[in-house]
Amino acid sequence: VPGSFLRPLSAPAGGAYLDGYEVFRNACPRNCYDTCSIKTFVKDGVIQFIEGAPESSFTRGGTCVKGYAYTRRPYSPDRIKYPMVQEGRGSGNWKRVSWDEAMERIAKKLLDMEALDGNLLGLALTKYSGNFGITNYGVEGLLTSLGYTTRLTGTPCWPAGIDAQNYDMGDMWCNDPEDMAQSRYIILWGANPAWNSVHSVKYIYEARERGAKVVCIDPVLTQTAVKADEYWQVKASTDGALALGMARHILDKGLVDEQWVRANSVGFEEFAAYLRESVSVEWA
Ligand code: SF4
Repeated sequence: VPGSFLRPLSAPAGGAYLDGYEVFRNACPRNCYDTCSIKTFVKDGVIQFIEGAPESSFTRGGTCVKGYAYTRRPYSPDRIKYPMVQEGRGSGNWKRVSWDEAMERIAKKLLDMEALDGNLLGLALTKYSGNFGITNYGVEGLLTSLGYTTRLTGTPCWPAGIDAQNYDMGDMWCNDPEDMAQSRYIILWGANPAWNSVHSVKYIYEARERGAKVVCIDPVLTQTAVKADEYWQVKASTDGALALGMARHILDKGLVDEQWVRANSVGFEEFAAYLRESVSVEWA
């Protein structure tokens, strides 16, 4: 049933389970635009279960499996709760140390570095995704408080999205993801929302119920690909050719609003000439 897997499995319906529970409101700190609003149910000081807050229109009361698994995390025997020191780098020989000792070691290292170099630029922070909660930004605050340190810039994914939006739209303007339900034609290009963006899937289904066509382009036959109306399996890294072929087709069929494109883009003539000279739909 489309969308049914998005409902919380951990809580019985009807609210009877609220008796004797304290309910806390949280947000998932992971790096999804979903930013799931969560209700955490605590009894006898122990988290019993969580559920997505139904007040969130985007998630409609569901999280993903990672969200539901939060119940296990605080009580996992594998959780690192204390400072650990590895005796011999790469040895795997970890031993627990006191907080004082851990602080002492780190402070000494920083002071040694400053004494040697005259600055702390040898101290580099690189981090990006995973957890966007206070533990992520707390590290930034710590390093900033020390003065000039080194930050690595760039990320594996988001700059590509920023560049694409700036080139295509002139600015970073994003649709409200809920708009997807209004689409008439959805191309999921190298995306697998059935696994990676579960809350988007219900909007894709809603669009399809309204008559939208859903096309999936992916080298891998994903769970999203099998749900699409059409699946185009491309060889990895050849989808640029497919995009050029589509552009040539759009040009050939006169589907370009040339007046608008000329007024709002750079290099249209050159691009059109390149397509006519070097690209054919058959080749693509
Ligand atoms: S979809 Fe999952 S990982 Fe993403 S914000 Fe929601 S619970 Fe967190």
